[in-house]
Amino acid sequence: MRIFDPHIHMSSRTTDDYERMYEAGVRAVVEPAFWLGQPRTSPDTFADYFDSLLGWEPYRASQFGIRHHCTIALNPKEANDPRCRGVLDLLPRYLAKDGVVAVGEVGYDSMTPEEDEVFAAQLALAIEADLPAMVHTPHRDKATGTRRSLDVVRESGLASERVLIDHLNELTVAMVKEAGCWMGFSVYPDTKMDEDRMVTILKEYGTERVLVNSAADWGRSDPLKTRKVGEAMLKAGFTAEDVDTVLWDNPVAFYGQSGRLDLAEADPAEFYAGNTIKRGG
Ligand SMILES: [Zn+2]
Repeated sequence: MRIFDPHIHMSSRTTDDYERMYEAGVRAVVEPAFWLGQPRTSPDTFADYFDSLLGWEPYRASQFGIRHHCTIALNPKEANDPRCRGVLDLLPRYLAKDGVVAVGEVGYDSMTPEEDEVFAAQLALAIEADLPAMVHTPHRDKATGTRRSLDVVRESGLASERVLIDHLNELTVAMVKEAGCWMGFSVYPDTKMDEDRMVTILKEYGTERVLVNSAADWGRSDPLKTRKVGEAMLKAGFTAEDVDTVLWDNPVAFYGQSGRLDLAEADPAEFYAGNTIKRGG
């Protein structure tokens, strides 16, 4: 089974995870820029974070045979903090970089006017940078948040096939499919989607434009959930080809629209910026 995890926050995971992921078949990941739990107080700290998503983390992933790309954005939650608004001015510079395969995560957290403004501004940046966009949907009041997100996408003029709407569930999948956007599902150990519900959704809606991710981060999460969905699909009678469509071809097709996916076998360098993961190196 070859696996592309299209949404995983590897900066908050250990090297054990990278090893287990490789063993499970993961060969490529996309790490979306997100909220770090602790509020950030200035755009400068975002710049350092974005640099690590483009430098150190792809280097670290390459040591374990995994290709690492990222998406860059001001996340929905911190869109509400006036101290972080200057991040929007940093974005054009980052969106021009090779390892960036989309603008994201953008979208809604609490659906405030500030979030409206930042969401629309970043979809405009996606058009300008000729990049797809990855949209996070809120964990509270998901149906309303998803419907509003689709409206904002429509108004932005960004083509629906360039947009991935993530963290979907049974209540939100139909409207996203109908809108022509890509459908993302985050499979967690104990909240939101699990592998059996995922299989039921795949049976009902098919495999076209569906992406499955672990969204693993610093919270309770499981970086092997992609593999577990693949196994659940096989057990439910899907073919190996169906599994490959969902776990590899679809993320490659969506993020490939950036023109920047590099899926050649990861070639581990000795050093990144003079640093190595080897102690004493
Ligand atoms: Zn995320």
